[in-house]
Amino acid sequence: MTKYIFVTGGVVSGLGKGITGSSLGVLLKNSGLKVFMQKFDPYLNVDPGTMSPYQHGEVYVTEDGAETDLDLGHYERFIDENLTRNSSVTSGRIYLSVLEAERRGDWDGKTVQVIPHITDEIKKKVYAAKNSGADVVITEIGGTVGDIESQPFIESIRQIRMELGRENVLFIHVPLLPYLKVSNEYKTKPVQHSVKEMLSLGIQPDIIVPRSESDIPKEVRDKISLFCNIPLENVIVAPDETSIYHVPITLYNQNLHRIVAKQLGLQLKPTKIEPWKDFLKKLESSQKELQLYIVGKYVELKDAYLSVVESLQIAGFENGYKVKIEWIQAGNLNDSNYEQILKNAKGILVPGGFGQRGIRGKILAAKFARENNIPYLGICLGMQIAAIEFAQNVLKIKNANSTEFDPTTSNPIIDIIKGKDTENLGGTLRLGLYQTKLKSNTLAHKLYASDFAYERHRHRYEFNNNYREQFQNAGMIFSGEYLEKNLIEIIEIPSHKFFIAAQYHPEFTSRPNKPNPLFNGFIKAIIQQ
Ligand code: GLN
Repeated sequence: MTKYIFVTGGVVSGLGKGITGSSLGVLLKNSGLKVFMQKFDPYLNVDPGTMSPYQHGEVYVTEDGAETDLDLGHYERFIDENLTRNSSVTSGRIYLSVLEAERRGDWDGKTVQVIPHITDEIKKKVYAAKNSGADVVITEIGGTVGDIESQPFIESIRQIRMELGRENVLFIHVPLLPYLKVSNEYKTKPVQHSVKEMLSLGIQPDIIVPRSESDIPKEVRDKISLFCNIPLENVIVAPDETSIYHVPITLYNQNLHRIVAKQLGLQLKPTKIEPWKDFLKKLESSQKELQLYIVGKYVELKDAYLSVVESLQIAGFENGYKVKIEWIQAGNLNDSNYEQILKNAKGILVPGGFGQRGIRGKILAAKFARENNIPYLGICLGMQIAAIEFAQNVLKIKNANSTEFDPTTSNPIIDIIKGKDTENLGGTLRLGLYQTKLKSNTLAHKLYASDFAYERHRHRYEFNNNYREQFQNAGMIFSGEYLEKNLIEIIEIPSHKFFIAAQYHPEFTSRPNKPNPLFNGFIKAIIQQ
């Protein structure tokens, strides 16, 4: 029987419910259970695919091509399982299915209501998670308890507990525990109020993980236990940490996994926590700094490149270095200042992106890296940029461009996939996992140490095969290809120290102790110079 764990948040958002849930996932998985994770987001967008990174940070892409919340990236990096589109559910998605059913006449003329129609649809999504074959499904409810938007989700999980019972469903609540400097004490009132709010919605949390600045005194835990009606051991201390990767150990030390297992009647094997401790050791012993530049559009908002940053850090730790990223706003680079601004770069990464803004700056960054033998890693748009730059400056092809930026260019080096819907922005991309055949004796082949790479995509435009020969004659090689459709996946310049760019997003497959090969190679190349 599948067991369900729901993680809710209280007082404020952004406390790390996702990290708490995935850390528990780490402990359960390493105790021999199969874990699946889900995030319910209360907003009305059908998926985060068309949301601005300013709103939402990066869009994380699953193997099956769902465009999801960045929390899924944390989940995957923590529990090291490939999640699916069923892991990311928004209110918009729920309402859309219910309303589509209404238009089809599926509801037989009944009045369509939040309870039961919306809540039934939510429950369906929860129960569908057992198709993953998981022993335990951990579901994070986005937002904060008490929000109007999240109420249908709270009501649904209340019903699930009623349907399946306390031995199959467990509630973890993660509220803010504020510290008052003036009186030098922790104040439990907001925690109490937020639990009261849950009680008014019919839910008594089983475990409370108050989020605090530092370790909390026993009296404070006692107080939470007493006022919130849970055993003392079910108050789990979760202070701010220097790295999110510490959280599984913090929870492990308080036996969170055993408390959960006891209530849910789960059999745990001895927890294999060593690999995780090894990773932390690498992280902590990585003192030397390694500098590189990221030239992008949303540089003031690091969450827009979250998986790229995590991938760089993970690869850095693997090699004993802490990566220090210099963020360069692509829009600030122009023909007269780019050499000055980039002159100290030890490595240059151009990440994915959409739209015209900052394109010239990114092209100049690729040019600078190519001409000065600086390690370059291009991701998705960063690959298209490298190809356009090569066409403009090496092949001297006039107007070389992508039709995304110049729809009438006479030399569309990067062009739309024929037959694609260009009217609707949502859901018209090449998304998800594709197999890349790697050419032998290339950098890509060496890095992956395999004939194939399996990576995730999220883009609309492709390298235009009409230009292949010209590129090859001038020394660029196409080391990765999606054979079925003849699509270029990886380009590289073998005469360069390290110049490689991929049409896919390698950042989504890095895991602690297992950096993605392109990132690992990039970091090694920077170290070696
Ligand atoms: N804008 C480009 C495209 O649609 C690249 C997308 C990306 O970098 N994710 O093909």
